[in-house]
Amino acid sequence: MHAKDLIPIPRLLSARNVLVIFPHPDDAELAAGGTIALLAKNGASVTYVCATDGSLGSLDPAIAPELIAQIRKKELEAAAEVLGVKEIIWLGYRDGYAPEPPEMRPKMVSIIRKVQPDFVITLDPWLAYEAHPDHRKVSMAAVEACMYASFNHAYPEDRERGLGPWSVTGVALGFTPAPNTFVDVGPTWDTKIQAILCHKSQFPEHIWSQVSPYMHLKAQEYGKEIGKEFAEPFKVLSLMHLHVNIDAWRS
Ligand SMILES: [Zn+2]
Repeated sequence: MHAKDLIPIPRLLSARNVLVIFPHPDDAELAAGGTIALLAKNGASVTYVCATDGSLGSLDPAIAPELIAQIRKKELEAAAEVLGVKEIIWLGYRDGYAPEPPEMRPKMVSIIRKVQPDFVITLDPWLAYEAHPDHRKVSMAAVEACMYASFNHAYPEDRERGLGPWSVTGVALGFTPAPNTFVDVGPTWDTKIQAILCHKSQFPEHIWSQVSPYMHLKAQEYGKEIGKEFAEPFKVLSLMHLHVNIDAWRS
């Protein structure tokens, strides 16, 4: 027995109330769409928190950023419906300009304390070579918020809103280079693809024809880890792993 075995990795598929926090309108579907669909199908309540408006997401200079944001809002609403997501909370930051984590953190803490999820799904903030600051900042703010939400005296203004401290059972980090959990998404693979394709503005044919083969092959590679056709990978950690835990990187 190793010391690290004393702090078990929580089981993502046992989640009943899930909060998904992500930077842009298509990130949740790409990183975790199959898992989200599976959780919702199994009766879990799933709430989205989309940090930015997606207004940088167009290669066409003739389309105004405000219009892109409107289009992408509708696209995410459609994708969320396909996956069985209950609600979308928009933080409304401008795409590409998400603020530093301490500015976003209190909003996320309040949401966590209100929704009281057992699991938060976000992206891996420790993904090396991630150049997009929204991805780095939003995912870091999300894991920080999981910790702060549990502190009695952090953001005491929440108490006036009737919100008490809340401890999540686990966080699941998608787009991770160090997965410890592979979810069999064979049964919901088509639903994931359907949800991704709701983002029509992001995946016109010439882009989808490049993205799709890569995504399929990656999912098949991850599937081999568990002897299934397709899998989505996550680094799943408990709150105990997220602070001064020298085994977290290899847990
Ligand atoms: Zn993104």
